[in-house]
Amino acid sequence: MDNKLFTPGPLNTKSSVKGAMLHDMGSRDVEFLEVVKQIRSELLTIAGLKPDDGYDTVLMQGSGTFGVESVISTAIPAFGHLLLITNGAYGDRIKQMTQVYGIKTTTLKYKENIVPPVKDAEEILLDDETITHIAIVHCETTTGIFNDIEGIGLLAKRFSKTYIVDAMSSFGAVPIDMKVLDIDLLISSSNKCIEGVPGFSFVIAKIQTLESCIGQARTVSLDLYSQWIEMKKNNQFRFTPPIQSVLAFRKAIDQLKVEGGVEKRAERYRKNYLRLIEGTEALGLHTYLDKKDQGYIITSFLFPENPNFDFTRFYESLHLRGQVIYQGKLSDTNCFRIGNIGQLYLQDIENLLKAIKEVLVEMKISLVLKR
Ligand SMILES: *Cc1c(COP(=O)(O)O)cnc(C)c1O
Repeated sequence: MDNKLFTPGPLNTKSSVKGAMLHDMGSRDVEFLEVVKQIRSELLTIAGLKPDDGYDTVLMQGSGTFGVESVISTAIPAFGHLLLITNGAYGDRIKQMTQVYGIKTTTLKYKENIVPPVKDAEEILLDDETITHIAIVHCETTTGIFNDIEGIGLLAKRFSKTYIVDAMSSFGAVPIDMKVLDIDLLISSSNKCIEGVPGFSFVIAKIQTLESCIGQARTVSLDLYSQWIEMKKNNQFRFTPPIQSVLAFRKAIDQLKVEGGVEKRAERYRKNYLRLIEGTEALGLHTYLDKKDQGYIITSFLFPENPNFDFTRFYESLHLRGQVIYQGKLSDTNCFRIGNIGQLYLQDIENLLKAIKEVLVEMKISLVLKR
C-alpha cells in the first residue's frame, strides 16, 4: 500500500483516478479533445459559473507555479503596476516572478500569521492611481491561513482593478464564487483539492480580461493568451499535453461530484482538520496560527519545546510507519506541516495520531495528556 500523504500535494488519489491514466492517446485525438472540453466546462461549474457568465478556462502544462507564472507574465501589461499582498512563501514567489519580468510592483508584506487587513490595501489604492492589478493567495499553504479574498475582491471591484487570486490549495474544497468575488483570473492545479495527479494547472478567467492580454506575453511557453486562443478554437494545448494527467483529472472531477461537490469535500476535510487539532492538542502540540485564521486545508505545528525533538528523526520515524508529513516553510519559526486533503478520512487521521504518539514516546518527549 502507498504511504499516506499529509502534504499539500501531490496527494493520495483514488485508484479509479490513477486507473484512468492507463491509455495512450494522441494530442489531436477527438476523444482527448472532448475530455479537455468537458474539463474546461466542469471547472466553470465548480467556480460557481454558468456558460454565459463570460468566463473561460485555460489549461496550462506544468505544476501550479507554471499556471501562476503564465498569469503574471501575460496578464500584466508593460505599463501595468501590481499590488501584491503576501503573507507567505507562495505570495513571495509571485514577487520573485515580477522581479524576473521587471513588472512594477508594490508589495504589502505581512508576517505569516497575519491576515492582511483590507484597509492597508485600500490606503495604497487611494494613494496610488497607477495600480492596475491586485494579486493575493487564497489559502497561503505556507501556514494554512485563509486570506480575505472577499474583502480584497470588493476593493478590486470598487477601484476597478484586475483581480488575480492564487487559489491553488483551496479550489475544489473551499466554495469560491468567482462572479460574486469578481475575480478576473483564478489559478489552481490538477493535484490539489480536485484530487487529480500532477501535470497541469488551470486558469479560470473573465473572457474580457483574457481578450485584453493579446500581445502581452513575456514568454513563449507560458503565453496564457495564445493557449486560450488555441483551447477556444479546438480544445488543444499548443505543445504536448499531459494526456494521462488530463484523463485522470476528468475522473477526479467525476469523483468530486460523486462525493457531493465542493461543500461535501469541504466537510470531509474540515472533519479531518478538527480531529487532527483535537488529537494533536491532546499530545501537547501547538499550532502556529491563531485558530480563527487557520483554514482546514493544512496546519503548521510548532516544534515541541523539548531538547529531544529532532525533526529529521520525527519525519523519518513517521515515514517508516507509512505516514508522510511535510516540512515547515516559515521564515522565522520552526514548524512542520500536516495536510488533511486528498484521499484522507477520519481513520487515516487516527492512524497518524497514533503514529505521532508512538514517535514522540520513542524520542522521549513527555506528552501533555488532556485530563
Ligand atoms: C501548491 C501551491 C502552488 C504551486 O506549487 P507547485 O509546486 O508549482 O505545484 C502555488 N500556490 C499555492 C498557494 C500552493 O499551495
